[in-house]
Amino acid sequence: MTLPVDFVFTQNNLQDFVDCPRRFQLKYILKTAWPAPVSEPIEEHNRLIELGTQFHMMVHRFYLGIPADVITLHVTDEDLLAWWNAFMNNPPTNMPPGRQPEISLSMPFAGFRLAAKIDLLAVEKGKRAVIYDWKTTHQQPRPYFLKERIQSLVYPMLVIKTGGALNEYKPFNPAQVSMVYWYPAFPDSPVTLNFDPDWISSTEAKLTRLVNQIAEMRMEIYPLTVDETKCKFCQYRSLCERGIYAGNLDEEDEGDEEGSLLDINFDDIQGIAF
Ligand code: SF4
Repeated sequence: MTLPVDFVFTQNNLQDFVDCPRRFQLKYILKTAWPAPVSEPIEEHNRLIELGTQFHMMVHRFYLGIPADVITLHVTDEDLLAWWNAFMNNPPTNMPPGRQPEISLSMPFAGFRLAAKIDLLAVEKGKRAVIYDWKTTHQQPRPYFLKERIQSLVYPMLVIKTGGALNEYKPFNPAQVSMVYWYPAFPDSPVTLNFDPDWISSTEAKLTRLVNQIAEMRMEIYPLTVDETKCKFCQYRSLCERGIYAGNLDEEDEGDEEGSLLDINFDDIQGIAF
């Protein structure tokens, strides 16, 4: 089963492959629709996803220059207002002056394209760039696991290599770039990642190996993950005969140290009108 030549790699689909090759195959190659709750209780899961989406949209508007009182005019949800107030009272500090929310970056990579939509990129031209990602989960920030996420490789690499419009498409040195994960539920505990000069070559090699591995997959059914905890929160679990019932949100919050189902990014909410 070969990948289409115009396949675009993103942090989402690469992370899915790392988590479970079969999930990658079902979701992005076969495009298998398999409606099933991802976690229980369903209503609470959906509510938290909606809250995360709303928060991202509010912060996006804020960095477009829309006044805060206009942004919150029709917001009544107390949890969402608490996140917003946390953001307004304790926003990310030392942010470079050039700011571009919801910025798309892409480049050719290992015979395909690699792309990302970043929540906010802030640039001091020719000097530094900071990538911001709003993490609307209820998990305590865990720097070690964030550092290992594919997102923490793909976003900085695209910024370093392409420079982006705010830097007139001039590449950055890795040491000029940092990435901040900012949590409205934990506004005092943002996680900042920095990159040393060797980071780009080792990251490029790692991602190239991963893309090549995916491109060379030829089996009819890609391997199912051996970590069955991933199946509890996967929409395909009944298709894969890995259980009928969705995992519990509380369990997910405690158990999945590498990421969260409630983690929203603009890749997931494309198409929403702003
Ligand atoms: S249910 Fe498990 S094995 Fe099947 S696609 Fe999902 S994570 Fe992979």
